Formats: sequence, structure tokens, C-alpha cells
Amino acid sequence: MGGDGGSIPGRADIVRVKGYEFKRNLGGMGYDPNTMVLKERGALSPQEARGLALTRCRVSQLPLHVPIVLDRSGYPYNKEELLERMLAKSDVLKSLGIKSLKDVVTINDGSEALFAPFANGTLQCQLTGVPCNGSKRFLFNWTCGCIFAEKAQREIGQQRSTQQNCPVCGAPNAKILPMIPDLAPP
Ligand SMILES: [Zn+2]
Repeated sequence: MGGDGGSIPGRADIVRVKGYEFKRNLGGMGYDPNTMVLKERGALSPQEARGLALTRCRVSQLPLHVPIVLDRSGYPYNKEELLERMLAKSDVLKSLGIKSLKDVVTINDGSEALFAPFANGTLQCQLTGVPCNGSKRFLFNWTCGCIFAEKAQREIGQQRSTQQNCPVCGAPNAKILPMIPDLAPP
């Protein structure tokens, strides 16, 4: 495979969901290199790909359950499954730039209130309850792990807090980052 710029780990190495794969079809038309397709059954829509990335652990592909951590790109992981791979010195974690728990943040609310009702493994905006399923842009705070819809931050969060404080929990020195910016909705 030529002309693809070298040895950056393929998405297929990082996000692997049973029955799905990232199709690399750089020469052809129609597919972005990161397009996730359901084998034998055609393409997964961008929203479906986002939904999977946001509701499953990035390394185990199991539905999210507490405790949950986020990496610097806002991809969620089940903490136990991440720790197992850390102990095993997994190459997948190396390719994701995760060496220790300093490279992730634990979502600070360990309760079931993190989850949208009636949706297995789907987190919700901690300001408005909007499900974090790929239909809306989401942000997270690297310093405390609170997650919230970008729109909610604009409408509610800024009234509650100054720029330096987390709009959800009020913790100081907020560092707000986008979740899964490489797959985020337009
Ligand atoms: Zn917070």
C-alpha cells in the first residue's frame, strides 16, 4: 500500500468491534480512510461509527460501565479493562500513547447517573441529560472528567461558571477538550 504516509497505527488496530472494521481504501472513491464498515453488510454511517466509539470501551469494545476513564481525545475506556492491558504492557495502548493513569482522566461521577436512561453504555450530558451517542458534539474537562454537550456548555454552563471553572462540578482550572474530535459531527 503506497502513498499513505507511513506507519501511523491503522484505525483497525485501535478500534476493533466484532463484525466491524475500518476500511482503508485510499485510492478509491467514496470512503474516508477512517470509515467503519460492517463486514458484508455495507457501510456504517458516520453517526453509527461515532455512537460505537462513544458507548464502547476503546480497547475492549465492551459497553461502558463504571469506573470509566477518558484519554486526551475523549475516547472512553472501562477502567478495569484499561488497567488489565496496562499491566500486560499492551502494544495497543502504546499506539494510543497511554503509558500510565496520567494519560487518562476518570469521569468524576462514578454513579449510574452518568448513563442515559434506557440506553446500554450510553453516557449523558451532565448538564442537560442529552445522550452522548454521536448525534451531538460533546466536550470533556481534562482536569475532572466531567462530560457535557457543546451546546449545553454554551447555553447553561457559561452562566454557571467562569471560564476557569468546570461548568458541571465547578472545579477550578478547567481544561475543556472535544470528545473524539477526529470523528465528531460537523
Ligand atoms: Zn467537572
